[in-house]
Amino acid sequence: MKTPKREPRRNTRPAALPAGAVAGLLAAALACAAPAMAPAAQLAPAVRAYVAVEAPVVALEHVRVVDGSGAPPRADQTIVLRGGRIAAVGAAGAVAVPPDAKVLDLKGATVIPGLVGMHDHMFYPAGRRAPLYNEQAYSFPRLYLACGVTSLRTTGSIEPYTDLQLKQAIDAGLVPGPKLHVTGPYLEGAGAYTLQMHVLRGPEDAARTVDYWAGEGVTSFKAYMHITRAELAAAVAAVHRHGLTITGHLCSIGFREAAALGIDDLEHGLMVDTEFDPDKRPDFCPSQAETARTLAAIDVAGPQVQATIRDLVAHHVAVTSTLPVFETFAPNRPPLEQRVLQAMSPEARSDYLTRRALIGEQADSPWPVLLKKEEEFERSFVAAGGLLLAGEDPTGYGGDLAGFGDQREVELLVEGGFSPVAAIHIATANGARFLHDDRIGAIAPGKDADLVVIAGDPARNIADIENVKLVFKDGVGYDAARLLADVHGTVGIY
Ligand SMILES: [Zn+2]
Repeated sequence: MKTPKREPRRNTRPAALPAGAVAGLLAAALACAAPAMAPAAQLAPAVRAYVAVEAPVVALEHVRVVDGSGAPPRADQTIVLRGGRIAAVGAAGAVAVPPDAKVLDLKGATVIPGLVGMHDHMFYPAGRRAPLYNEQAYSFPRLYLACGVTSLRTTGSIEPYTDLQLKQAIDAGLVPGPKLHVTGPYLEGAGAYTLQMHVLRGPEDAARTVDYWAGEGVTSFKAYMHITRAELAAAVAAVHRHGLTITGHLCSIGFREAAALGIDDLEHGLMVDTEFDPDKRPDFCPSQAETARTLAAIDVAGPQVQATIRDLVAHHVAVTSTLPVFETFAPNRPPLEQRVLQAMSPEARSDYLTRRALIGEQADSPWPVLLKKEEEFERSFVAAGGLLLAGEDPTGYGGDLAGFGDQREVELLVEGGFSPVAAIHIATANGARFLHDDRIGAIAPGKDADLVVIAGDPARNIADIENVKLVFKDGVGYDAARLLADVHGTVGIY
């Protein structure tokens, strides 16, 4: 992140399209077009159907708090929410509970800040016949919210207008979902593997594309695998002129080249850094098999990778971890979960299980080793002072679903060696810091009341992060089970 280069832009910037356009599209439940960030009273019935707790003042009592700062958990706390914000937090008895508060006794539960998903697309692979992706504007916002993701960056869009309309509809209280930070369409060069990406025709086209989508209301951009250095340089300059950020899933450009060109963030980490490939040619993306061979043999603690890490930290370039999508490439991982299969359409489920079984038979898969290397790289990057962000990337071959993947990401950060409290800090406060949004990512007075109520103690057993009961967004408590039940059988369709 190049903080000094630009003015931070807040997520409250209204999308460019008028509220009337949204209402037209969402004709069903919409009595009125509410203003952005609607208070609870203005939630449409279609959203209120998922709400379990709604009151001007709410007190969460006897909870364990993991506040997102990286501080140790605190037992038996009271959190008071008022007007969508956190009004007070402290030890039971030390915090005054207003007489008009709706009081929830949550003994045995842990409260963490809402997750900030930093690689959370709104699309999902369409199936085994072709590399195409379907927008999931119905199931994904519900899944993300149900799993505790209250803010996310879409980190590359297949349908940018849909993502912008969705953001506006969520902010207006018409559709349930997290606070969206919409990324523009992929900035891809010649060689794109899917027909759904515009292929840049050179640096001027890169700048023109950025200018157009910045005008439409996106707040970040993503460079993709075949972009040239000249196109990336032009894109970075245009993005920063607009006061926005640019990340990249790169291949044709190595990490140190991208840092020198001014990129703000790098997706996926070491697994997509091609700069160590012996035959790497400037501006060309080597085969993934070649990069996998190189990385399987590389020493993360050795001088090459460590020099890259130091360079990224020196240039204030963040790295977004997306361990869940890589995990699906390793044989028999992740553990098969009923809730994941239940969310899928029958065809998506069948495609996923077929491919998973084939991968399960690969005795020589490089992925168990590569996954370990990536985890080691991320620990080393953080130890060197780097800003690590948590995402999931719900693509691959369909085993990594919206929301479930964000929870799995935190579990895999712990598998990789972070403490549970440190992993929660990465998945909350670090995202907020990158987004320049000081209202989210922590439990403290004055912050937005974006909180996840979890049965159990994720500070001791990180898998408890899957036991989400309630998700508060702007002080409104959503019933996780109701949101999940509503998407059964839909992922892959819409
Ligand atoms: Zn992605």
